[in-house]
Amino acid sequence: MTSKPSIGVEGAVALIDANRLEQFIERIAEITEAGPGVTRLAYSPLERRAHDVFRNRMCELGLTVTVDAAGNSIAELPGVAEGSSDAVGTGSHLDSVPSGGRFDGIAGVAAAVEVARSVVESGLPHRRPWRFVAFAAEEGARFGQACNGSRAASGVATSAGIAGLYDNGGITMAEAMASVGLRPDRIDTAAWASEDWHGFIELHVEQGNVLETSRTPIGIVDVISGSSRVMVELVGTASHTGATPMHLRRDALVAAAECVLLCEQIAQNSQHRGTRITVGKLDVEPSSITTIPGRVIFSVDVRDIDGDRQRTTARDLLSRFQVIAKERDVDIDIQIIGDTSPAILPTRLVDLIAAQARAHGVPYRIMPSGASHDTQQISKVTSAGMIFVPSQGGLSHVPDEWTSYQELALGTQVLLRALYALDLA
Ligand SMILES: [Zn+2]
Repeated sequence: MTSKPSIGVEGAVALIDANRLEQFIERIAEITEAGPGVTRLAYSPLERRAHDVFRNRMCELGLTVTVDAAGNSIAELPGVAEGSSDAVGTGSHLDSVPSGGRFDGIAGVAAAVEVARSVVESGLPHRRPWRFVAFAAEEGARFGQACNGSRAASGVATSAGIAGLYDNGGITMAEAMASVGLRPDRIDTAAWASEDWHGFIELHVEQGNVLETSRTPIGIVDVISGSSRVMVELVGTASHTGATPMHLRRDALVAAAECVLLCEQIAQNSQHRGTRITVGKLDVEPSSITTIPGRVIFSVDVRDIDGDRQRTTARDLLSRFQVIAKERDVDIDIQIIGDTSPAILPTRLVDLIAAQARAHGVPYRIMPSGASHDTQQISKVTSAGMIFVPSQGGLSHVPDEWTSYQELALGTQVLLRALYALDLA
């Protein structure tokens, strides 16, 4: 225990500072590839530089920081209770999508740093260890699979399991990890033990516009969508657009177009608003005005808050793609590149966070998360909860992504109160 005078949780909450949150987020936003917005891809040297900033801040505050084989950075503040080794944790990720924004993930890490600072500087006594985590490689944009660091923490990721993951340039995830000094061969050592954890709460920007349109400053997540992702390759015959009659074509792009429309149709006709299907990536070869497209590769992302429905929808889609390919006489190859189940977050944590918001007059709403988050993985290890703060215009994964620092500070205060309540629970 420190010799500083304790002024209780109110003293710590009073230290949460919007300007400091802004400074941290601005500092991390500088670590980017050239071009619009922020580009700091999973398992890139830039992502590791952002982790270095996190580590240095935490070391300055006197915390012990470790980096595991999967690249997660974990800072620990010991608790005062004898024999209480099960920790209370918070954190999020520091990587981004290509040309993304500065808040997705980073907001939750900035909140973690600010909570750590206010706890240290106020001398707030807490029973259990508090751990502050910057997860690695959360975004699925580079390797298809999302939440790679937290999957390792939850024990789901294995060296064999990640072997099939590679980026657009043909670099495998294992090669990318090794090139930044991580240990893909020892990824299993990053797994957390349930007995070391008491609970975990992640703060994240909403990435949608439910909070903004309802003028609610805080969202408390009760369920996180799962996703099934596949890459589909259609191969027809490339040939001259003038010389090849319509009835003799094997046009891979028109077959793909039918598949894309089918995705929209299936999601729209679904009985539930929880099903969302997107084709977000489509490459056409040879991509020439005067050549019939001979080869098309596209991605399909199926999201749902119901795991059975998610997989049934994905299976249904793939079998109907086969029919379309057959009818149009093109070859089809399908590869599953990601599959994550939805996570239902425990009511105990939803209620704990809600009680803190209510007690301090902060309006909130309980809501599902359409996006995947590290918490989805962490909920396999320990009780996990999520706090959303509003995204202006509902925009995310774009350079215009924005959250007001006042709202982020309010969210961080609720986070600190909730972590403190969890510490005592
Ligand atoms: Zn995120």
